[in-house]
Amino acid sequence: MSEHDHLIQVTAADTSVRALAAVTTNLVHEACQRHGTSPTASAALGRALTGALLLGQTFKDLDRLTLHFQCDGPLGGITAEASSRATVRGYVRNPAADLPVNERGKLNVSGIVGGGMVYVTREAGFEIGLSKEPYRGSVPIVSGEIAEDLAYYLAVSEQINSAVSLGVFVSPDPPRVAAAGGFLIQLMPGAEAETIALIEESASRAPHITEMILQGAGALEILGTALGSVGFEVLEQREVEFRCTCSYDRAVNIVSCLDRAEVEDMLVKDQGAELTCHFCNEVYSLDVAALEKILAPPTVM
Ligand code: ZN
Repeated sequence: MSEHDHLIQVTAADTSVRALAAVTTNLVHEACQRHGTSPTASAALGRALTGALLLGQTFKDLDRLTLHFQCDGPLGGITAEASSRATVRGYVRNPAADLPVNERGKLNVSGIVGGGMVYVTREAGFEIGLSKEPYRGSVPIVSGEIAEDLAYYLAVSEQINSAVSLGVFVSPDPPRVAAAGGFLIQLMPGAEAETIALIEESASRAPHITEMILQGAGALEILGTALGSVGFEVLEQREVEFRCTCSYDRAVNIVSCLDRAEVEDMLVKDQGAELTCHFCNEVYSLDVAALEKILAPPTVM
């Protein structure tokens, strides 16, 4: 078993099948620690982070993919953003949202998500100076369990039939993310009925994703199980991690863009400013000196 979170992408059946799997236990644990999520919110956030990573890796020339659940359940919303470097960051609106386990003894993710919309935004080109319009697709939330919603999005908005499995296992006392991961199998046009039937059979027979991970399976073994007798070729394997793009300098930039009166207020009334990053919950404190520097007139050469 690999100690690091990782992702693998493979191709099968003469490129008519594309499949990815990821083990994301550490990064989901980190995200949930940072945000102080309840067990059920941890499952929702972890599934979304893993789903964004898997989906993001399926697009070539992508800079950033954002998966956003705008939902009316107690969770209030989920945002997960994956980069081309296989890093991900994200948050939920109400990290404390929780419900008792459902009748099957599972975390009630659909209960805290509720109904609403799923938005997927893909941005490409800005790292090489092209300013292409971002692509944005949306579908209604059909289940609230995240994986089913992603499969529905792919079928309706991208016309790709997929099998998606996402899971987060939270061990009790004290609650801790003990396993997280997922797989995504996409059937391209040209996939033969026989191949599809074989994959449907093996994917549905596979043990639950977090069971496999708890038993030490890596992404390669997960795909081996999910694809069954369908042989595949590994295209890439890489480490994945939780990483935010915020920094103290960015916090200073944000304050520099505010109205002068607002910054003066921060200086006089609060003797400083505190900014919290939504994505990673990091707090940046600007002291009096930092605010005075922002308000100082630019030096004339
Ligand atoms: Zn951040």
